[in-house]
Amino acid sequence: MPESSAFPRRAGNGGSVFLLALLAGLAAYFLVVRWFGADDDPVDRGFQVMNTHARVVVPEGTSEFPPSKLADMAVAAIREVDRLMSPFGEESDVRRLNAAEAGEWVEVSPETWTVVMDALRWHRLSGGAFDPTIGPLKRLFRFDGGELRAWPDETALAEARSKVGAQKLRFEREGMRLIRERPGMLLDLGAIAKGYAVDRAIEVLLRENVASALVEVGGEIRTIGMKGGPGGRPWRTGVRDPRKDDVLAVMEMSGGAVATSGDYESFFLFDGKRYQHIIDPRTGMPLTGAAASVTVRHPTSCMAADALATTLVVLGPDAGAEFLRGQALGLFSEGVEVDMLFLGEGDSLKRIFMSVDREGNFSSPKETPVEGWGVAG
Ligand code: ADP
Ligand code: MG
Repeated sequence: MPESSAFPRRAGNGGSVFLLALLAGLAAYFLVVRWFGADDDPVDRGFQVMNTHARVVVPEGTSEFPPSKLADMAVAAIREVDRLMSPFGEESDVRRLNAAEAGEWVEVSPETWTVVMDALRWHRLSGGAFDPTIGPLKRLFRFDGGELRAWPDETALAEARSKVGAQKLRFEREGMRLIRERPGMLLDLGAIAKGYAVDRAIEVLLRENVASALVEVGGEIRTIGMKGGPGGRPWRTGVRDPRKDDVLAVMEMSGGAVATSGDYESFFLFDGKRYQHIIDPRTGMPLTGAAASVTVRHPTSCMAADALATTLVVLGPDAGAEFLRGQALGLFSEGVEVDMLFLGEGDSLKRIFMSVDREGNFSSPKETPVEGWGVAG
C-alpha cells in the first residue's frame, strides 16, 4: 500500500517534473529565439542629446555584433561627448572652465582638448569668423520661443564684446590645460561638438568592423557604407528648404559626412527682422540677411563639416567663397563640397556650389539652380 501509494505519488512527481522541464525548455527556447531574433533586428534609434535630436541607424548583419549592441555603443559615445562638452553638466570640462576663476588652469579631457584645438584652428583660418568664445554674446541674445524680449543696450553689448575673443583663452599643450585670461570669458563648442560627437560614434562602429550605419546629431550626419549593407543602396538625407517646411533636395551618401548650418532652425524675430543663433564675432551681432543655409559635405570628418558650415554662414557667400579659394594647398581633401544657399531678389533662393579638386583646392564658385539639386524623390 505504501508502495502503491508511493508509486503513483512518485509517478505524479515524475510527471510534473517532466512537464515542468518541458515547459521550461519551451519557454527557454522561445525566449532564446525571440531574444536573438530581436537582437538581430535592424536598429533605428532616436534620442535627445546636446539640446537636439540624435539618431543612430544600424542595419542587421553589419558586424559580428547585434545591431542593438552596436547602437548602444554609438549612443554611449555621443553621450560621453555631451557629458564632457555641454555648457551645463556637472562633469563637463566646458562648465568647469567657465566656472573657474580667471587665471586658474583647468585640466580638460583629451576629447575636449581635441575639439578646442580644432575650434581655435578654425578661428585662425577664418580670420575670427568662427569663435569658440562667443558665449557671452550668445547669453546676451538669448531668446526663448523665437522671441527676443528686449534688444540689449550699448553698455551690455560692449561688456559682452569685451569678453569674447579666442585670444582670451590660453592653453598649455603639456597637461592639456586651459585658462581664461579674462573674467567672464565663456567657452562655447556649440558649432563644432555635434560634428565631433558624430565622428566619435562612427569611429566606435568602424572599430567593430561595421559595414553599414548612419549617425546623426542635430542635422550633422555621417554614414558608413550603403544602407542595408554591401550591395545595398546609398543612404538618403534631405536638405531642408530654408524658407519652407519642405525638403529642398535629397542627397545620396555612402561613407561621408554632411553638416548644415542655417537660420531656419534656431532664430528669433525682432522688429520684424529675422536673426540667427549664429553671431558674427567681429560685430558682436547675430546674423541677419544674406545667408540662409550652408551645407558642407566632407568625405571623412563630420567635425570639419560642422565647423566649416558655421564659418561660411558667418562669412556669407562672397567672403565665404573667397576664404575657401584662398586656402593653402592640401588644407581640404578631395571630395569636400560646399553648397551655400542664400536669399536672392524677391526671396528667391540662390545656390553657390564649390568643390575640392585633387590638389586640395576649391573650384571657383558656380551659381547653380536650386531645382534639380540632389537626386529626385
Ligand atoms: P546648428 O546648431 O544649427 O547646427 P551651428 O553648428 O552653426 O548650428 O552652431 C550654432 C551654435 O554655435 C550657436 O548656438 C552657438 O552656440 C555657437 N556659435 C554662434 N556663433 C558662432 C561663431 N561665430 N563661431 C563659433 N560658434 C558660434
Ligand atoms: Mg556648426
